[in-house]
Amino acid sequence: MKTLTPLLALALTVSGTALAAFAAEPSKTPVTVTNHPLEFIDTSFENASPVWYEFAPDGTVLVHLLYDHERSSPNRAAGHIHFQLHAKPGSRLTLEFKNLDNVWNGVSGSIARELKTVVISEDGRAWNSVPLESLPDNRVRLHVEMPGPRLYIARVEPYRLSDLDKFVAGIRTNRLIQVTVIGRTVQGRELELIRLGNSQAPFRVFLRARAHAWEPGGNWVVEGLVRRLLKDDADARKYLERYCLYVLPMANKDGVALGRTRFNFQGKDLNRDWDKPADPRLAPENAALEQWLEGMVKAGQAPHVALELHNDGGGLLHISRPPVPELPRHLERMATLEELLRKHTWFTEGSTKGSFRNSGTLGDGWLERYRIDAVVHEFNCNWISGLKDYPSARHWQTYGEKLATVFYEYFGAVKP
Ligand SMILES: [Zn+2]
Repeated sequence: MKTLTPLLALALTVSGTALAAFAAEPSKTPVTVTNHPLEFIDTSFENASPVWYEFAPDGTVLVHLLYDHERSSPNRAAGHIHFQLHAKPGSRLTLEFKNLDNVWNGVSGSIARELKTVVISEDGRAWNSVPLESLPDNRVRLHVEMPGPRLYIARVEPYRLSDLDKFVAGIRTNRLIQVTVIGRTVQGRELELIRLGNSQAPFRVFLRARAHAWEPGGNWVVEGLVRRLLKDDADARKYLERYCLYVLPMANKDGVALGRTRFNFQGKDLNRDWDKPADPRLAPENAALEQWLEGMVKAGQAPHVALELHNDGGGLLHISRPPVPELPRHLERMATLEELLRKHTWFTEGSTKGSFRNSGTLGDGWLERYRIDAVVHEFNCNWISGLKDYPSARHWQTYGEKLATVFYEYFGAVKP
């Protein structure tokens, strides 16, 4: 102990001196921003993306997105964009997005080439798409003119927890709906599983949206599908005689609430590790769903098809190929699904190539472990080729409406 004391004293002295020197040292590079029209970037609201910003000498606003990180992995992700500009009405602003160097499946790569559009809105409700300018060296810029003193900027039309709450509140008293809380997120938010229709219908379809927080497309698709099936017209009744719908509408609620990009609050990717039992401590969102699914399997009520809904820059059906004896049958059924999507919706993007496998996704894992025809469905966040238009909540809702017919015909075509 005696030998340690002088060392400790020395350490304290050194650190104390260093701290004092740091505090006393004047700033070496004065930062002057004179008369810039941007007053503030507000990120204090629901689903806002955490950012920090600074001004380049030419007046460009450099917006630094913050990464979220995956546990025990080099993976990191930024790319969620949702903030509000406060600036002089009529002023023109140039924003450059920084920190686009994501790491995905252990491979680093910039998402700059995937970042082609954003949406803007004065009220956070009515949105318009704006193309981004791509510059060399993975740089992406946005030019906007302020229509008023405030302007929201987002990657795609946001879908917040409050939007989901409103949606669920509006349908939950319908006699065709049953809402069950199957578990809680890391931060304790309730995970609702929505059943629509008669559990005794001959077929069951399952949808999950929003495993990745920045990707709201699936939520709009779910809304479109649910509203279509609740119309109570002749077609809806016909569809619901054939199948019952189960939906987990928002898996990564914590990430959505706090404006994260990809992982849950324990740094887990909720569209990974489906090749093994979920860890209830690190991924309670998946553990809850797994427990629900295993209950359904035990009751002889396993879903016949499952869609895991995502956004990316491609919009493909991700058909994974785990080594299961049912693989040829699965590929045949996915071909049927793709054909029906092309027939009834604006889907034209196609599916992944024959060598594709992405282990541990819900699509891959549910097929491997439960022999359920499960697939990841991406929705292109930049462009809808089939409509020659930018994506929007309305277009995704329309897609969901048409899915009602797709599932009806799918179950008519495949043998159980
Ligand atoms: Zn995703």
